[in-house]
Amino acid sequence: MSETPRFSRVLIANRGEIALRIQRACRQLGLETVAVYSEADADSRHVQEADVALCIGPAAAARSYLDADGLLLAARLTGAQAIHPGYGFLSENADFADAVEAAGLTFIGPTGASIRMMGDKITAKRAMRDAGVPCVPGSDGPLPADMDAVKAIALQVGFPVIVKASGGGGGRGMRVVEREADLAQAVALTAKEAQQAFGNPTLYLERFMQKPRHVEIQVLCDTHGTALWLGARDCSLQRRHQKVLEEASAPGIAPQTIAEIGERCAEACRRIGYRGAGTFEFLYEDGVFAFIEMNTRVQVEHPITEETTGIDIVAGQLRIAQGDPLGVAQADIPLLGHSIECRLNAEDPFTFMPSPGTITRWDLPGGPGIRVDTHVVAGYTVQPYYDSLIGKIISHGATRAEAIARMQVALAEMKVEGVSTNIALHRDLLADPDFRRGGVDIHYLERWLAQRT
Ligand code: ADP
Repeated sequence: MSETPRFSRVLIANRGEIALRIQRACRQLGLETVAVYSEADADSRHVQEADVALCIGPAAAARSYLDADGLLLAARLTGAQAIHPGYGFLSENADFADAVEAAGLTFIGPTGASIRMMGDKITAKRAMRDAGVPCVPGSDGPLPADMDAVKAIALQVGFPVIVKASGGGGGRGMRVVEREADLAQAVALTAKEAQQAFGNPTLYLERFMQKPRHVEIQVLCDTHGTALWLGARDCSLQRRHQKVLEEASAPGIAPQTIAEIGERCAEACRRIGYRGAGTFEFLYEDGVFAFIEMNTRVQVEHPITEETTGIDIVAGQLRIAQGDPLGVAQADIPLLGHSIECRLNAEDPFTFMPSPGTITRWDLPGGPGIRVDTHVVAGYTVQPYYDSLIGKIISHGATRAEAIARMQVALAEMKVEGVSTNIALHRDLLADPDFRRGGVDIHYLERWLAQRT
């Protein structure tokens, strides 16, 4: 049914830990790698390990990692036949995916059409609703220009509501509205911001959920009709919509409930002909899942799913892009034990001020059930130009308690000098009684931080 694109050399259009993660998967599968890097990243580990490395521009991402034409030129110059976009940067840019394929190369990800559909939250929600995935109740489509009609929709949905930009992302372009009297002004302001930030003023609205958890389902789909769901992740511990600590599975939710929503996601993928790795993000409150958006790329937190299923998601992406069948059935996928990921950032643990600089000591933890994904080595300089993620500690245990205990040991072993890190934040979170009970909501961390000061 599908043609089989074959490639032997992959350009990794990213940096940091994910570039190294992708490079490892390529090498494991016998594929050559091309590292592209900005002037600020010349000393990166994956650059040293690559078969071919090419500097693509200055530190500013707009002139290096976000330069689509430059990346295509780099692929041509180095003989790469495929591009893996990683996460962030161009990974969810449908035009880039199309341009890669138009250049006769393989984009390691979904089709441009799938990325475009999911990048517009209104079309994404519509597609999901049609495919039987439960969504947050709201306006079925864009808000009309007539304010009375908008009010009628909001009253029907019920206050509080959240007004959101269809083209929004990164936690921007949304506004909570408590009362009908504030609606008109909120709509006008959000439309203006959306136009400025995303070039698209289209809005929709949803019921604002008060105390939801963020629970997401990982999927992996080949081009032969197999769509698998790989369990759930709970990513409720967030600050300013940035995830801090994630775990798989979601504590306190019955496996049968997760299996039901997982099946819906897999079925939606079959219906839209989705290919590659993806994540369905849900808000979960009072036992109900409500879809908010889909990410059409590998995610930072993918390792906890790898630990609990034994499936290498990045190798899966590469094999799918080669046209190979996954060769695994849903019934073959185990959900083994529990896994936790702590994101290590070079920042103050409690003020969150970024802390760039040279790392003088970098002692990694080890032992049973501990994995560290990082591009950092002692002597590495954390640059101020990019996000502050310097690594991820991933623990796995037979039970959640064991995964927590192993993570606590790992955090105690991890020694970093030269920059500040958020290790102390993770340490305190893992000792927090509410976290240990499991199932805190998406506002918990910010409330917890506010109480400390
Ligand atoms: P983005 O693409 O910008 O990340 P999302 O639609 O994923 O936007 O929403 C980001 C965050 O905003 C969610 O993780 C949640 O914290 C909050 N949010 C979004 N929609 C709702 C809603 N209907 N009710 C409550 N919180 C919401």
